[in-house]
Amino acid sequence: MAFVDVYLALGSNLGDREENLRQALLRLDEAFGTHFKAVSRWMESPSWGFEGPAFLNGCVLYRLPRLGAPEEHATWILDRCKAVERSLGRMVEGETDTKGKRIYHDRPIDIDILFYGKETIDSQRLTIPHPGISQREFVRRPLAEIAKPALKAAFPELFD
Ligand code: ADP
Ligand code: MG
Repeated sequence: MAFVDVYLALGSNLGDREENLRQALLRLDEAFGTHFKAVSRWMESPSWGFEGPAFLNGCVLYRLPRLGAPEEHATWILDRCKAVERSLGRMVEGETDTKGKRIYHDRPIDIDILFYGKETIDSQRLTIPHPGISQREFVRRPLAEIAKPALKAAFPELFD
């Protein structure tokens, strides 16, 4: 069977960030039907592009059996990631403050697809490699911990 290395970036800046990331990994394992192959350390960085609490970020590598054409399979992966984001958003739904008022949370977790093998994908829903990699230290640093030599060779400009 043909396999593909899929690198994901995870970030959380709401609630128990470490627990959100831990849960995300458990749910991604479940969604993909396999345990991840590698995970970086979690790294803290200030919120980027908006005012808010600091993020905890990391990267994870899944080796998945190829299912269909790259764009189709990557879109399926995106849908799984979005489902995990929603499931973690819902975990804190129904939370109330001391006065019994509902507390609303945005997204306690963001999951982005950094790479799908060596493919370049440009569709309405997906840009792969993720366009934010080179400017974002909070992606590059954890990614460097888990990137295989083959990935670095395929995209040398993203790994200086
Ligand atoms: P952001 O990640 O920019 O904070 P979202 O997680 O809400 O915002 O993603 C917005 C949209 O970005 C998604 O619905 C998805 O279709 C699109 N997108 C494009 N390329 C990618 C990618 N490589 N990984 C994840 N989402 C992507
Ligand atoms: Mg996202």
